[in-house]
Amino acid sequence: MDFNQSNLNVFAGLCAVDVPEHVDMMMRALQDSGEVCTRMGAYKPRTNPYSFQGHGKGCLPWVFEKAGKHGIKVIAMEITHESHIEEIDTCLERLGRPTGVMLQVGTRNTQNFELLKAIGRQSEYPVLLKRGFGITLNESLNAAEYLASEGNANVIFCLRGMKTEAGQPHRNMVDFAHVPAVKRLTRMPVCVDPSHSVGSRDRAPDGILDVMHATAQGVIAGANMVLVDFHPKPERALVDGPQALLMNELPAYLEDIRLCHDTWTKRQAIYQRLQGEPPE
Ligand code: PEP
Ligand code: MN
Repeated sequence: MDFNQSNLNVFAGLCAVDVPEHVDMMMRALQDSGEVCTRMGAYKPRTNPYSFQGHGKGCLPWVFEKAGKHGIKVIAMEITHESHIEEIDTCLERLGRPTGVMLQVGTRNTQNFELLKAIGRQSEYPVLLKRGFGITLNESLNAAEYLASEGNANVIFCLRGMKTEAGQPHRNMVDFAHVPAVKRLTRMPVCVDPSHSVGSRDRAPDGILDVMHATAQGVIAGANMVLVDFHPKPERALVDGPQALLMNELPAYLEDIRLCHDTWTKRQAIYQRLQGEPPE
Protein backbone atom coordinates (compact mmCIF):
# COMPACT_ATOMS: atom_id res chain seq x y z
CA MET A 1 0.00 0.00 0.00
CA ASP A 2 1.20 3.46 -0.82
CA PHE A 3 0.25 6.50 1.23
CA ASN A 4 1.33 9.87 -0.12
CA GLN A 5 0.12 13.42 -0.74
CA SER A 6 -1.20 12.62 -4.23
CA ASN A 7 -3.21 9.43 -3.99
CA LEU A 8 -6.33 8.46 -2.10
CA ASN A 9 -7.25 5.45 0.04
CA VAL A 10 -10.63 4.84 1.63
CA PHE A 11 -10.89 3.19 5.05
CA ALA A 12 -14.59 2.42 5.46
CA GLY A 13 -15.55 0.13 8.30
CA LEU A 14 -17.01 -0.36 11.73
CA CYS A 15 -16.33 2.22 14.41
CA ALA A 16 -15.95 -0.70 16.81
CA VAL A 17 -15.66 -4.44 16.34
CA ASP A 18 -18.83 -6.02 17.72
CA VAL A 19 -19.91 -9.44 16.46
CA PRO A 20 -18.29 -11.70 13.81
CA GLU A 21 -21.40 -11.52 11.61
CA HIS A 22 -21.16 -7.71 11.26
CA VAL A 23 -17.41 -7.79 10.68
CA ASP A 24 -17.96 -10.38 7.95
CA MET A 25 -20.76 -8.37 6.30
CA MET A 26 -18.61 -5.24 6.33
CA MET A 27 -15.55 -6.93 4.89
CA ARG A 28 -17.55 -8.76 2.24
CA ALA A 29 -19.09 -5.46 1.08
CA LEU A 30 -15.61 -3.92 0.86
CA GLN A 31 -14.28 -6.89 -1.08
CA ASP A 32 -17.23 -6.70 -3.50
CA SER A 33 -16.35 -3.02 -4.10
CA GLY A 34 -12.65 -3.78 -4.63
CA GLU A 35 -11.57 -2.08 -1.40
CA VAL A 36 -8.60 -3.44 0.57
CA CYS A 37 -8.57 -1.16 3.61
CA THR A 38 -10.94 -0.84 6.55
CA ARG A 39 -11.31 0.68 9.99
CA MET A 40 -12.23 -1.36 13.07
CA GLY A 41 -11.65 -0.51 16.69
CA ALA A 42 -10.87 -3.17 19.29
CA TYR A 43 -9.77 -0.69 21.94
CA LYS A 44 -12.30 2.13 22.30
CA PRO A 45 -11.63 5.28 24.35
CA ARG A 46 -15.02 6.19 25.79
CA THR A 47 -16.15 9.33 27.55
CA ASN A 48 -18.27 7.27 29.96
CA PRO A 49 -16.51 4.43 31.83
CA TYR A 50 -19.69 2.34 31.76
CA SER A 51 -19.93 2.47 27.95
CA PHE A 52 -18.66 -0.47 25.87
CA GLN A 53 -14.86 -0.28 25.92
CA GLY A 54 -14.19 -2.50 22.90
CA HIS A 55 -13.48 -6.23 22.86
CA GLY A 56 -9.74 -5.64 23.27
CA LYS A 57 -7.19 -8.28 22.33
CA GLY A 58 -9.76 -11.07 22.55
CA CYS A 59 -11.25 -10.17 19.17
CA LEU A 60 -7.96 -9.67 17.32
CA PRO A 61 -7.50 -13.30 16.10
CA TRP A 62 -10.87 -13.59 14.45
CA VAL A 63 -10.85 -10.04 13.09
CA PHE A 64 -7.43 -10.56 11.49
CA GLU A 65 -8.41 -13.96 10.11
CA LYS A 66 -11.56 -12.57 8.53
CA ALA A 67 -9.58 -9.65 7.09
CA GLY A 68 -7.19 -12.10 5.44
CA LYS A 69 -10.11 -14.10 4.06
CA HIS A 70 -11.63 -10.99 2.46
CA GLY A 71 -8.39 -9.61 1.04
CA ILE A 72 -8.19 -6.70 3.48
CA LYS A 73 -4.59 -5.46 3.56
CA VAL A 74 -4.76 -2.71 6.20
CA ILE A 75 -7.01 -2.15 9.22
CA ALA A 76 -6.90 1.26 10.90
CA MET A 77 -7.15 0.33 14.57
CA GLU A 78 -6.94 2.75 17.46
CA ILE A 79 -4.70 1.88 20.36
CA THR A 80 -4.97 3.58 23.72
CA HIS A 81 -1.96 2.06 25.49
CA GLU A 82 1.49 1.06 24.32
CA SER A 83 0.90 -2.55 25.41
CA HIS A 84 -1.63 -2.78 22.57
CA ILE A 85 1.19 -2.58 20.00
CA GLU A 86 2.58 -5.87 21.24
CA GLU A 87 -0.84 -7.47 21.52
CA ILE A 88 -1.50 -6.65 17.86
CA ASP A 89 1.99 -7.64 16.74
CA THR A 90 2.01 -10.95 18.61
CA CYS A 91 -1.39 -11.89 17.23
CA LEU A 92 -0.53 -10.98 13.63
CA GLU A 93 2.75 -12.87 13.85
CA ARG A 94 1.09 -15.97 15.29
CA LEU A 95 -1.45 -15.98 12.45
CA GLY A 96 1.22 -15.54 9.75
CA ARG A 97 0.27 -11.90 9.06
CA PRO A 98 -2.97 -12.38 7.10
CA THR A 99 -3.51 -8.59 7.11
CA GLY A 100 -1.82 -5.37 8.22
CA VAL A 101 -2.61 -2.72 10.78
CA MET A 102 -2.31 1.07 10.83
CA LEU A 103 -2.07 2.21 14.44
CA GLN A 104 -4.55 4.99 15.13
CA VAL A 105 -3.96 7.62 17.80
CA GLY A 106 -7.33 9.03 18.81
CA THR A 107 -8.10 12.70 19.32
CA ARG A 108 -8.17 12.16 23.10
CA ASN A 109 -4.59 10.91 22.93
CA THR A 110 -3.03 13.38 20.48
CA GLN A 111 -0.92 14.77 23.33
CA ASN A 112 -0.36 11.50 25.18
CA PHE A 113 3.37 11.93 24.71
CA GLU A 114 4.46 8.60 26.21
CA LEU A 115 2.05 6.76 23.90
CA LEU A 116 3.36 8.77 20.94
CA LYS A 117 6.97 7.96 21.85
CA ALA A 118 6.20 4.25 22.18
CA ILE A 119 4.44 4.19 18.80
CA GLY A 120 7.29 6.20 17.30
CA ARG A 121 9.87 3.68 18.48
CA GLN A 122 8.45 0.99 16.21
CA SER A 123 8.43 1.18 12.44
CA GLU A 124 6.55 -2.01 11.60
CA TYR A 125 3.21 -0.21 11.59
CA PRO A 126 2.26 3.11 9.97
CA VAL A 127 0.39 5.58 12.15
CA LEU A 128 -2.85 7.50 11.72
CA LEU A 129 -2.64 10.50 14.02
CA LYS A 130 -5.90 12.29 14.78
CA ARG A 131 -5.83 16.04 15.25
CA GLY A 132 -6.45 17.03 18.88
CA PHE A 133 -10.05 18.23 19.24
CA GLY A 134 -9.27 21.28 21.36
CA ILE A 135 -5.71 22.35 20.62
CA THR A 136 -4.09 24.38 17.86
CA LEU A 137 -3.12 22.83 14.56
CA ASN A 138 0.50 23.54 15.40
CA GLU A 139 0.20 21.60 18.65
CA SER A 140 -1.20 18.62 16.77
CA LEU A 141 1.60 18.84 14.20
CA ASN A 142 4.07 18.76 17.08
CA ALA A 143 2.47 15.49 18.18
CA ALA A 144 3.38 14.09 14.76
CA GLU A 145 6.90 15.32 15.37
CA TYR A 146 7.04 13.12 18.52
CA LEU A 147 6.43 10.08 16.32
CA ALA A 148 9.02 11.16 13.76
CA SER A 149 11.66 12.10 16.31
CA GLU A 150 11.46 8.60 17.80
CA GLY A 151 11.95 7.07 14.35
CA ASN A 152 8.56 6.58 12.72
CA ALA A 153 7.86 9.16 10.01
CA ASN A 154 5.29 6.92 8.35
CA VAL A 155 2.44 9.06 9.63
CA ILE A 156 -0.88 10.11 8.16
CA PHE A 157 -2.51 13.14 9.76
CA CYS A 158 -6.28 12.99 10.25
CA LEU A 159 -8.67 15.93 10.47
CA ARG A 160 -11.78 15.00 12.47
CA GLY A 161 -13.39 18.29 13.40
CA MET A 162 -12.94 20.54 16.42
CA LYS A 163 -14.97 20.44 19.61
CA THR A 164 -16.95 23.64 19.99
CA GLU A 165 -20.61 24.52 20.51
CA ALA A 166 -20.23 26.58 17.34
CA GLY A 167 -20.02 23.35 15.37
CA GLN A 168 -23.68 22.51 15.99
CA PRO A 169 -25.69 20.93 14.44
CA HIS A 170 -22.61 18.86 13.68
CA ARG A 171 -20.86 16.84 16.39
CA ASN A 172 -17.67 18.80 15.72
CA MET A 173 -16.79 21.86 13.64
CA VAL A 174 -15.73 20.42 10.31
CA ASP A 175 -12.16 21.55 9.61
CA PHE A 176 -11.52 20.12 6.17
CA ALA A 177 -10.47 23.50 4.76
CA HIS A 178 -7.23 22.64 6.59
CA VAL A 179 -6.45 19.76 4.19
CA PRO A 180 -4.31 21.94 1.89
CA ALA A 181 -2.80 23.77 4.89
CA VAL A 182 -1.50 20.56 6.46
CA LYS A 183 -0.18 19.40 3.09
CA ARG A 184 1.70 22.68 2.74
CA LEU A 185 3.08 22.67 6.29
CA THR A 186 4.16 19.01 6.33
CA ARG A 187 4.90 16.09 4.04
CA MET A 188 2.20 13.96 5.62
CA PRO A 189 -0.67 12.54 3.61
CA VAL A 190 -3.89 13.99 5.05
CA CYS A 191 -6.93 11.98 6.06
CA VAL A 192 -10.42 13.26 6.73
CA ASP A 193 -12.87 11.59 9.09
CA PRO A 194 -16.32 12.90 8.09
CA SER A 195 -18.13 10.53 10.49
CA HIS A 196 -16.67 11.87 13.72
CA SER A 197 -16.80 15.42 12.34
CA VAL A 198 -20.48 15.44 11.38
CA GLY A 199 -21.70 12.76 13.80
CA SER A 200 -25.17 12.12 12.35
CA ARG A 201 -27.06 10.83 9.34
CA ASP A 202 -28.72 14.19 8.71
CA ARG A 203 -29.50 14.80 5.07
CA ALA A 204 -29.53 18.05 3.11
CA PRO A 205 -32.49 19.03 0.88
CA ASP A 206 -30.44 17.89 -2.13
CA GLY A 207 -30.78 14.31 -0.83
CA ILE A 208 -27.11 14.02 0.14
CA LEU A 209 -26.09 13.19 3.72
CA ASP A 210 -23.98 15.81 5.54
CA VAL A 211 -21.35 13.07 6.05
CA MET A 212 -21.12 12.66 2.28
CA HIS A 213 -20.97 16.40 1.68
CA ALA A 214 -18.17 16.76 4.23
CA THR A 215 -16.29 13.87 2.61
CA ALA A 216 -16.60 15.58 -0.77
CA GLN A 217 -15.29 18.84 0.67
CA GLY A 218 -12.19 17.12 2.02
CA VAL A 219 -11.47 15.04 -1.06
CA ILE A 220 -12.03 17.86 -3.56
CA ALA A 221 -9.45 19.82 -1.56
CA GLY A 222 -6.90 17.02 -1.98
CA ALA A 223 -7.39 14.68 1.00
CA ASN A 224 -5.41 11.44 0.68
CA MET A 225 -7.45 9.19 2.89
CA VAL A 226 -11.04 8.92 4.11
CA LEU A 227 -11.78 7.23 7.43
CA VAL A 228 -15.49 6.59 7.65
CA ASP A 229 -17.97 4.65 9.79
CA PHE A 230 -20.26 2.09 8.16
CA HIS A 231 -22.45 -0.52 9.81
CA PRO A 232 -24.73 -3.24 8.40
CA LYS A 233 -27.17 -2.77 11.30
CA PRO A 234 -26.54 0.65 12.88
CA GLU A 235 -29.33 0.15 15.42
CA ARG A 236 -27.31 -2.74 16.83
CA ALA A 237 -23.89 -1.03 16.71
CA LEU A 238 -22.22 -0.78 20.12
CA VAL A 239 -20.52 2.53 19.29
CA ASP A 240 -21.55 5.44 17.06
CA GLY A 241 -24.44 3.73 15.26
CA PRO A 242 -26.30 7.02 14.52
CA GLN A 243 -23.48 8.33 12.30
CA ALA A 244 -22.86 5.11 10.37
CA LEU A 245 -23.43 4.84 6.63
CA LEU A 246 -25.25 1.74 5.38
CA MET A 247 -23.92 -1.14 3.30
CA ASN A 248 -26.13 -0.26 0.33
CA GLU A 249 -24.69 3.28 0.35
CA LEU A 250 -21.11 2.07 -0.11
CA PRO A 251 -20.95 1.86 -3.95
CA ALA A 252 -22.48 5.32 -4.47
CA TYR A 253 -20.28 6.80 -1.77
CA LEU A 254 -17.14 5.35 -3.39
CA GLU A 255 -18.29 6.69 -6.76
CA ASP A 256 -18.76 10.15 -5.24
CA ILE A 257 -15.27 10.00 -3.67
CA ARG A 258 -13.67 8.99 -6.98
CA LEU A 259 -15.47 11.84 -8.73
CA CYS A 260 -14.17 14.33 -6.14
CA HIS A 261 -10.61 12.98 -6.31
CA ASP A 262 -10.65 13.22 -10.14
CA THR A 263 -12.02 16.75 -9.84
CA TRP A 264 -9.17 17.67 -7.49
CA THR A 265 -6.72 16.44 -10.14
CA LYS A 266 -8.43 18.58 -12.78
CA ARG A 267 -8.52 21.58 -10.46
CA GLN A 268 -4.75 21.39 -10.14
CA ALA A 269 -4.40 21.48 -13.93
CA ILE A 270 -6.55 24.64 -14.14
CA TYR A 271 -4.40 26.53 -11.66
CA GLN A 272 -1.13 25.21 -13.04
CA ARG A 273 -2.13 26.76 -16.38
CA LEU A 274 -2.76 30.04 -14.59
CA GLN A 275 0.68 29.93 -12.94
CA GLY A 276 2.25 29.45 -16.40
CA GLU A 277 0.66 32.66 -17.72
CA PRO A 278 2.73 35.86 -17.72
CA PRO A 279 1.45 38.59 -15.33
CA GLU A 280 -0.78 41.28 -16.91
C1 PEP B 1 -12.62 6.84 16.06
O1 PEP B 1 -12.13 7.08 14.94
O2 PEP B 1 -13.19 5.77 16.34
C2 PEP B 1 -12.54 7.85 17.12
C3 PEP B 1 -12.78 7.55 18.40
O3 PEP B 1 -12.26 9.06 16.65
P1 PEP B 1 -11.72 10.36 17.43
O4 PEP B 1 -10.48 9.93 18.16
O5 PEP B 1 -11.44 11.32 16.31
O6 PEP B 1 -12.83 10.80 18.33
MN1 MN C 1 -16.47 6.45 16.87
